[in-house]
Amino acid sequence: HAKDCGRKTFQFYSAEMTARVEKRLTMETELRHALERGELELHYQPQLDIATGRIVGMEALVRWRHPQKGMMPPAEFIPIAEESGLIVPIGEWIMRTACRQAMAWQAQGLPELQLAINLSARQFKPELAGLVKEVLAETGLPARCLELEITESLFIEGTDSETASILAHLKALGVSLAIDDFGTGYSSLSYLKCLPVNKLKIDQSFVQGISSNPEDASLVKAIIAIARSLNLRVIAEGVETEAQLHYLREHGCDYMQGYYYSRALPAGAFVELVKPAGA
Ligand code: C2E
Ligand code: MG
Ligand code: MG
Ligand code: MG
Repeated sequence: HAKDCGRKTFQFYSAEMTARVEKRLTMETELRHALERGELELHYQPQLDIATGRIVGMEALVRWRHPQKGMMPPAEFIPIAEESGLIVPIGEWIMRTACRQAMAWQAQGLPELQLAINLSARQFKPELAGLVKEVLAETGLPARCLELEITESLFIEGTDSETASILAHLKALGVSLAIDDFGTGYSSLSYLKCLPVNKLKIDQSFVQGISSNPEDASLVKAIIAIARSLNLRVIAEGVETEAQLHYLREHGCDYMQGYYYSRALPAGAFVELVKPAGA
């Protein structure tokens, strides 16, 4: 009897697993078509200089307008894109689309803003610098206007020479590099002293604990101090309250991004926000 039960349990899990695998495969197929069907779109979240209150940049954040499921956040499909390798063509589309958009805004006479784009570790191949160079040339976006966001996961096992060489090539193009979700990656900090990093992005989990959790507040303070002492810029993400902003200002954080000022917006709404009054 016990044996039978065991087998049943096994069959139960097996059916559930099959369903999960099927769901994933379906999503992978749909995602493969999403690009060609124009279902992906970029939203833009403003980044502000804390001292002046001015918008100085924006982060491009991808969304999937799924024909049945509606607007899907990246957390639900980026992991699948990464595992399947689809992140490479999708990432290329994101880079082109965002740079073209940023350049179009400049051509319309909007103030020059810096565009931040997220990169997955899977995109971090020797071809990357070539792609960035090509996209900048094609769109006319000045390299100083492009910032690439990478995560510490790239440096977890130390920095191999391939990664270092890609970073050097990117640096040579004149684009800047930011470390996203800084403080969550369990990597050693030694890469900060030898790699061409320009900016740290304080992870939103720390920012959100500023008023409620003294440890989070201390970590935010410490990250700002690390950035200042290494002559890096520092931005806080996920800023939702006046109290958080106040703390960041008091401790010398350079920039902020978060719902307190604005969510990520479709291009049309973003431009309305940035347009000088009367323009
Ligand atoms: P991330 O790069 O750390 O982006 C910040 C996320 O926090 C965004 O979520 C943004 O909408 C959200 N956020 C911003 N301000 C606030 C706030 O005040 N409160 C809260 N609760 N959240 C805030 P989103 O757009 O869902 O993106 C999630 C993650 O997906 C991103 O984290 C990034 O890792 C990834 N991702 C997004 N777009 C891309 C992309 O184009 N390429 C790649 N490779 N990954 C992307
Ligand atoms: Mg990011
Ligand atoms: Mg982040
Ligand atoms: Mg993140």
